[in-house]
Amino acid sequence: MPELPEVETVRRGLAPVMEGQQIVLAEVNRPDLRWPFPDRMAARLTGARVERLRRRSKYILADLDSEETLLIHLGMSGRMLITGAMLGDFHHDHPAPAKHDHVVFHMGQGARITFNDARRFGAMDLMPTRAAAEHWLMKDLGPEPFANDFNEAYLIDRLKGRNTPIKSALLDQRIVAGLGNIYVCEVLYRAGIHPARKAGQIAEKGVAELVPLIRQVLEEAIAAGGSSLRDYRQADGELGYFQHGFAVYGREGEPCVTPGCSGTIDRIAQSGRSSFFCPQCQR
Ligand SMILES: [Zn+2]
Repeated sequence: MPELPEVETVRRGLAPVMEGQQIVLAEVNRPDLRWPFPDRMAARLTGARVERLRRRSKYILADLDSEETLLIHLGMSGRMLITGAMLGDFHHDHPAPAKHDHVVFHMGQGARITFNDARRFGAMDLMPTRAAAEHWLMKDLGPEPFANDFNEAYLIDRLKGRNTPIKSALLDQRIVAGLGNIYVCEVLYRAGIHPARKAGQIAEKGVAELVPLIRQVLEEAIAAGGSSLRDYRQADGELGYFQHGFAVYGREGEPCVTPGCSGTIDRIAQSGRSSFFCPQCQR
């Protein structure tokens, strides 16, 4: 499932063919994905120019000159394919339409953007740009991890007295937006904090240290996504998924990578999700 770095990678890949460009034709091939598409979605998108492509949490937002904003959510398996455009030194021909090609944007300058989603947990919606922050998927989101309002004092205040495990607190989108299971596991490993520790029982100093660690882990993953973007442009024009080395995530039973640590990565289930950690490094 794509997390913030993967979504940011897709946004960066789409920006050159979407920003400043007109959607010459929008094709919508079914009435819904996870939820019904908005009324007359194809007609409302056709002819609109994309002024800005931004990201909020795991949502890609295209602000249009029609004063509407298109929300794109990749869900579990959503994929974006860019064809017909010069991407670096490569030109990708349009493939024959494939099964699960649910939405296709024909852009100015000849690029075609295809949203393919086999499992249909993805979504698209349209909203007035001025009210985008109040959209039901976004209105309760906490600050972005890279924003100024996500800082040490803020996190200390939000975790104070909390009885929930730190893992659940960091996954709570009302506290910080966009963090998912994989990167929370990696953050807690770097912080040396056991995922089951009660959030309110971690010393303020330890909570404060989480803020730069969260940014560091996400920045590294976004950088890895950037390199994969160059690979994908050269491969087949598809965006969104990349291999990235993790210290604990998915490494149950393997040795801890901390120099001098003889621990073995363990896995526990928390709220139905797997937490990976080193029992020796994380207390
Ligand atoms: Zn260890």
